[in-house]
Amino acid sequence: MSLDVRYRSTRDNGKILKASQAIIQGLSEDGGLFVPDLFPRLEVSPSELAKMDYKEVAYEVMKLFFTDFTEEELKYCIEHAYDSKFDTEEIAPLTYVDGTYYLELFHGKTIAFKDMALSILPYLMTTSAKKNDVREKIIILTATSGDTGKAALAGFADVEGCGIVVFYPKGGVSKVQERQMVTQKGKNVKVVGIHGNFDDAQTGVKKIFSDEEFKAQLKEKGFRFSSANSINIGRLIPQVAYYVFAYSRLVKEGKISDGDEINFTVPTGNFGNILAGYYAKKIGIPVHKLICASNENKVLFDFFESGVYDRNREFILTTSPSMDILISSNLERLIYEISGEDADKCRALMSSLSGSGRYEISSEMKEKCKDFVGGFASEEEVLERIHEIYDRTGYVMDTHTAVASAVSKKYVKNSNDDTTNVVVSTASPYKFTRSVMEALEGKKEEEDDFVLIDRLSEMTGMPVPNAVEEIRNAEILHDTVCEKDGMKEEVRKFLEKL
Ligand SMILES: *Cc1c(COP(=O)(O)O)cnc(C)c1O
Repeated sequence: MSLDVRYRSTRDNGKILKASQAIIQGLSEDGGLFVPDLFPRLEVSPSELAKMDYKEVAYEVMKLFFTDFTEEELKYCIEHAYDSKFDTEEIAPLTYVDGTYYLELFHGKTIAFKDMALSILPYLMTTSAKKNDVREKIIILTATSGDTGKAALAGFADVEGCGIVVFYPKGGVSKVQERQMVTQKGKNVKVVGIHGNFDDAQTGVKKIFSDEEFKAQLKEKGFRFSSANSINIGRLIPQVAYYVFAYSRLVKEGKISDGDEINFTVPTGNFGNILAGYYAKKIGIPVHKLICASNENKVLFDFFESGVYDRNREFILTTSPSMDILISSNLERLIYEISGEDADKCRALMSSLSGSGRYEISSEMKEKCKDFVGGFASEEEVLERIHEIYDRTGYVMDTHTAVASAVSKKYVKNSNDDTTNVVVSTASPYKFTRSVMEALEGKKEEEDDFVLIDRLSEMTGMPVPNAVEEIRNAEILHDTVCEKDGMKEEVRKFLEKL
């Protein structure tokens, strides 16, 4: 008999929800994030997991957390999510390159790792709505640093009973990322660029979520909000599956023995991906270190070094835009945990973050962070790493993966930790071709992105993914741009037409 897992807000211990309710709600009304109140252990050993395919592993993981879903409901969601939308049957292949494994999470519809969770979220959401007898239309509000937006749009487009609005930083995403979003078809979708950065978009969305008056007006009209950002546990939990899967593949291929520890190096922005790795450890996967790789926006590196989280610094636009973040939302879940599940403490720290932009954790809390190691890579190191690995092996990685790869190289050199390492590879190089080509050719590229895409394909023999071919000549369907404080108005206008 499985344990019954409930969800609590990181800012209020009193509130207790079932998984399906937490998925529908997205973010807690008090501004906190939902966290599981306990972590059951995997019911099967890695050797048994090694005999399963991705969907079967995903089921073993998700059933531990989504305990109010029936087996049928959960299997229905998983079957429809991890199907031929992915360009490989393995779903999340492991590739061995130059002494390290790369867990490739970019084989889904929008060629970034967000597909791993956003392929399943719409199914979890509509199933949850049905289970809870929700009559209102669910409106997904999403802030994106580039990749979540398209993956959420692709997942929710024309899904019955749902609508979706995506906000992205105008000028802060790659050409392919922007083109992917503004060409999105569907009767229930809206894409808005904002004059601001990702943190502005995320803060704006959180503000709408906590605007009680606006929500009450919408409820009357038959709408309610939810989120597709990694603050939703319907996104976080499916991500735990690929950490378990990666471990089981290493066992299957005889690279490690059942029980050996491994490290993961994760290119990090909002701290969702790496937190899922931490959850994998908590349910029983032997993880030694989680290496948190930042780009030049190294607020997390500084946090793990000093115990001080301080976002008062310049926001740097880098070649890994999906990691250009100074407020890593999901860190709140770790803070809650290392505070000893003290919601008052967590709320106080978060209120200090939104006030002065900084907080400091106690040495006792810092001690509990020892599963994590921070690292960062400069722009120069990222481009060098792409070049170096390509020269040596012919393997081409994207800029985000290269941040992790560069950090992992430095970590091994400095620590002498020779634990088997898996670099989590979060995007196809075709999503960030300009930067990748600049790294490979060692010069500033002047040509159009699509010229560079074709040249990358010629150089490397890697076929151009469908996701890119689809947008080459697609019609631009969304051209709305607004100010930071105009986001609510755009939502209102969209809902009037829906
Ligand atoms: C979103 C994203 C990241 C960062 O993941 P978080 O869960 O926000 O830490 C890294 N790389 C790519 C390509 C992404 O799209």
